[in-house]
Parts: sequence; structure tokens; C-alpha cells
Amino acid sequence: MLNSVHLSNQELEMLKLMVDFLAEKPELCGKLESCTTPHYALTKTYSENFDMQEADAWKVFEELEKKIKEAEYIHVEAPSPIRKWFHISPEEINMLRVIADYFSPQPKMSPASGFVSNRLESTIETYKWVFGTSEGNGEAARENFQNLMEKTQKAVSFRCETLAPLVTTPNPYKAVLDLLQIAGEKLNLDAGIHEMLKRPMRTIILNIPVIMDDGNLRVFTGYRVQYNDALGPTKGGIRYHPELTMDEVTALSAWMTWKTAVAGLPLGGGKGGIRCNPKDMSLGELERLTRGYTRALARYIGPYTDVPAPDVYTDSQTMAWIMDEYSQIVGYNSFGVVTGKPVCLGGSLGRNEATSRGLMYTVIEAAKHKGVDLKKATVAVQGYGNVGYHAARLLDELGCKVIAVSDSKGGIYSKEGLDPKKAMQHKNQTGSVVGYKNYKAVSNSELLELDCDILVPAAMENQVTKANAGRIKAKIVAEGANGPVTPEADEMLYQKGIFMIPDILANSGGVIVSYFEQVQNQMNYYWSEEEVRNKLQSTIVTAFKDVLAIAEEYKVNMRVAAYMKALKRVSDAMLVRTQKPFMTVARQTG
Ligand code: NAD
Repeated sequence: MLNSVHLSNQELEMLKLMVDFLAEKPELCGKLESCTTPHYALTKTYSENFDMQEADAWKVFEELEKKIKEAEYIHVEAPSPIRKWFHISPEEINMLRVIADYFSPQPKMSPASGFVSNRLESTIETYKWVFGTSEGNGEAARENFQNLMEKTQKAVSFRCETLAPLVTTPNPYKAVLDLLQIAGEKLNLDAGIHEMLKRPMRTIILNIPVIMDDGNLRVFTGYRVQYNDALGPTKGGIRYHPELTMDEVTALSAWMTWKTAVAGLPLGGGKGGIRCNPKDMSLGELERLTRGYTRALARYIGPYTDVPAPDVYTDSQTMAWIMDEYSQIVGYNSFGVVTGKPVCLGGSLGRNEATSRGLMYTVIEAAKHKGVDLKKATVAVQGYGNVGYHAARLLDELGCKVIAVSDSKGGIYSKEGLDPKKAMQHKNQTGSVVGYKNYKAVSNSELLELDCDILVPAAMENQVTKANAGRIKAKIVAEGANGPVTPEADEMLYQKGIFMIPDILANSGGVIVSYFEQVQNQMNYYWSEEEVRNKLQSTIVTAFKDVLAIAEEYKVNMRVAAYMKALKRVSDAMLVRTQKPFMTVARQTG
């Protein structure tokens, strides 16, 4: 399938530098003379210009080279006020390949023109040699180069369309399969059920045409994966991200299956998303994209089949558009088709802080289990968005001392404790917690290793790995984000006696209150915030106690125990829907 891949800002800057280089820009020539190869000259110049390690500049080049090699079509976006997309012609794409090869550590095309000393002439010769005829004066090639240089130098954004499959490393779907294997073995999971749970029940790929503000048409690729619905309608967010992949959506849909099952909800798991960069799109473009996605998906979603919710870069406004579009299609107000809606459109009270409140209830239970006095406990929180901020605020309200918080720009530390609400006010005013009250600065990795009782990673995945797990000092780690601790690090923390509350339990408060929203929509009767909080507490505390009991009985870490609880619920539902164990079927057909 044709996939769209954007060059990152770093890759675009490198490409501009490469074209500059060949155009004999005087400020770059000096560097080239002192280097032995174009590749070295480029990465050295780039690392100096952008204050980056040379090894990282090499990685930027490698990624860029790969995208250029795999590109079927390329488009560049002109700067404002035009902000229009222009095509790069097939000849210009070939020229780009020659340029990328010229800077490659092991050029395959460029030696053909090694005898020409002028860099531009050398590129033109190579182009003629590889893609053109060996005759002529290279005027056409020179024109291609000029056109390409003009478009590249002006470009604010660069998009390649490729037939290569999109992959992320480490592949999150692999982590899902690995944990399924571990928990499945412990549970002695039916072999047929195991086979079915390795794959999603249904994957929908959609291509959505959108008229952009400049009048151009762009086609965006969207996905919806319904992983398993044995326990009820599938449920899970919709993510808008420029680097979204199918494997990522599939892994997230499996996670949702386990998350709703651990929480004891009558729901399955799903996830969706669109490969797009919402930061570069106007509100009107986002609305048209969301409505297009909803129309294409309408027959597959609904209050009794699959219920989307917000995720990365989507919010209550996105949900309001989906609800409205879907309602127009079915002919009546269908509030229950999505959750995470604005309260005035059937959203639930308490949804905004639900993930963090649920996390707080699990921390209270973990503290009782580990004998940690929360009135004296110290807390460090990585990530200060919706989950991190409310977690810090709620733990502070419980009497804990929040000693460090951070966001993508860095962190702050105060041994005496800091005020989470005031730190948030500072972030709202300045864009970051950094600089608040001149507290000591800590990096995001230093924050993880602080001497504290409770660590809440609430930013992104793969933060605690086997490289730093040995240096974590917290007594309790509560995963606010999805996947911040890797499976290898899990086991290391477990061996050190650190109590880990895994994501599918610790941050399940969000989906629990989403389920409450669905229930309220179907009853058309709405609960008070206190009622929502009480129901959330009893649901998540029950889940915590079940998981802890499994961890103790089977002597496994809390993540494996949570998977075991989830798998047991899902597989029991699957088995009871059929006449005989699947294992028999699997053996017969196997
Ligand atoms: P958010 O966008 O509101 O906040 C993310 C925060 O992380 C921001 O403060 C950002 O500055 C910070 N951040 C980004 N990169 C960072 C880095 N490298 N180091 C440190 N901080 C960094 O997002 P959110 O809704 O709070 O979600 C955070 C995590 O929790 C995500 O993994 C999300 O999938 C997960 N989660 C969220 C919910 C929910 O209800 N919001 C539910 C379950 C799981």
C-alpha cells in the first residue's frame, strides 16, 4: 500500500544542507576541504551547525537516505502565504537519489564520475551516467538540479509516498506477542485461543480524501483495528500522528483488550488513528478529515459494536465532530458512539482527571501492601500533561511530597517539595515547568533515578529500560503512560523488590470512566462527580486486588499477573461461546 512519510525537521535541514553543499556555497566549502569524504564533511558540518553529536547526525543522514531511496512520489510544501504542495518530478527524484548517494558512506553511483573535481559537475555526470544517456552537455540534468534546489530550499515540509511497509522500532506489536506468550504459558492457555489472540479480529484501512485550505486535495490513510470483542463492544482511542503505523495501532488495540479485561469491564479492545500532522493543519482541515474518517468508518462503529475515544492529538472537540457526523448518518443523536465528549454533549463528569485519579487509587493500595506511609512519601512525576499533572496534584492532596516534575523541555527538583498547581501555572505561562521558582534543574533521565518513594512515568514509552533499571530507587513505580517500562526492565525492578503497577492497571481509570460515560449515554441519565469517583474507586481497587492475588499465587511480576487476569477473562468468554475447546480444533487443523 502507498504510505505517506514526512521528513522530520532534522532530515529536511540536512537535505537543504546537502543541496547547498553541491551548489558550492562558500560557507560550507571550507569544511569540505578539511574532510576526507563528502559523508564525513556533511555530518561534521551538520553536527556543528545544529549542536549535535556526529553519531546522531549520521543517524539523521541514514534515515533521510532510506526515505529518499524508497520514495515513489515526493511532494514539497511551499512556505506561507501560499502553503501549497508541489510535486517533485520523477527526474528530480532521481537527482535526489544521486545526491543522497554522493553523501553516502559507501557511494554506489558517484564513483562513475570520480574524475570530475567540481562537486556539482560530478553530480551531473553521475546523473547522466546512471539515469540519462551518456551523451549531451547535461543541460537537462543541470535544470533538474536547479529546480530541485529551488523547491528544496524553500520547502517548509517534505512528504514522500512509499510502497515500503512502515515499521517502528522497537515494534510494539512484538512486545504484545511476547507478553501474550509469557502470560499464556503461565495460564496454560488453550492453544487455539492463543492462536486467535495473536492477531486482531478485524483491521480496517481507510484512505480519506480531504480538500485542504489551499484548494489542493490530499489523501490521508486511517486505520481502525478491532482486536477482540469476546467481552463486549470494542473500545479504544483514535490517534492522529505523522508517524503512526499499522503495527502501533494493532499493539494499542491489543493493549485496550487487556486493559478493559483487567478492569472487569464488559468491553473488548480497539484502537484507531490517522497518519497526519495535526500541528500543521487548520481546524477546518482537521474537521473535514475527522468527518471523512467517520463517514468511511460509520458502518463499523456504533454504541453496540465499537466505541472510539480521544488519544494522542485528538480531544473532546474531535469526539464532538465524530458524534455529530455519525448522528447525521444514522438519523438521530447517537451520543454513545464515542466517549470523551464535552460534558454538554453527553460527556461524563470526572473524565478529565479519571486516569490520574485511578492511578492514585492504585498507589494507595500499593502503599498499603508495601507499608509505605503516604503522608511521608516523596513523589517524582515524569511528564506534566493531563496524566502527570493530575497525578501530582492528587498525590499532593493525599499528603505526599511531590519533589520533582518534568515535561519535554526538562524537569525541576525541590527536596522540600513543590506545589503542583503553581508549577502548572508556570507551565501555562512559559510553556514549561523548567524555571519555576528557580528550583534545581533535573533532566528527564535524572528524574527517573531520584531518591523517592513513588515514581510516576507519565510521558511516553521506553523510559525505564535495562540500561537504567538498576539505578531506579523508588519503592513503587506507577505507569501513568503506556509502556514506559520495558519488559526486561520489569523483571529487573521485580528482582530488586520495587513494586510496579503496570499501565494496563495503573492508567485504566480513563477507560473505566469512558465506560461510565457509555452507560450514562445509554440510560440518558447522568451521575454526579462524586458518584463517578466512588464507582471508579471500587472498580479499580477490585482490579488491583485481583492482580496482586495472582502475582502472589504464581510468583510473577505485576505486569505478567495483569496479563494473566486479562487473558483468563477474554479466553473464558471465547471458550464459552463455542461447544468444545479450541485446542482440539487447533490440533485437528494444525
Ligand atoms: P499530554 O500530551 O497531555 O502530556 C504529555 C506530557 O509529556 C507533556 O507534559 C509533555 O511535555 C511531556 N513529554 C513529552 N515528551 C517527553 C519526554 N521525552 N520527557 C518528559 N516529558 C515528555 O498526554 P497525556 O494525556 O498526559 O498522556 C501521557 C501518557 O499517558 C501517554 O502515554 C498516553 O498514551 C497515556 N495515557 C493517557 C490517558 C489519558 O486519559 N490522557 C489514559 C491512559 C494512558
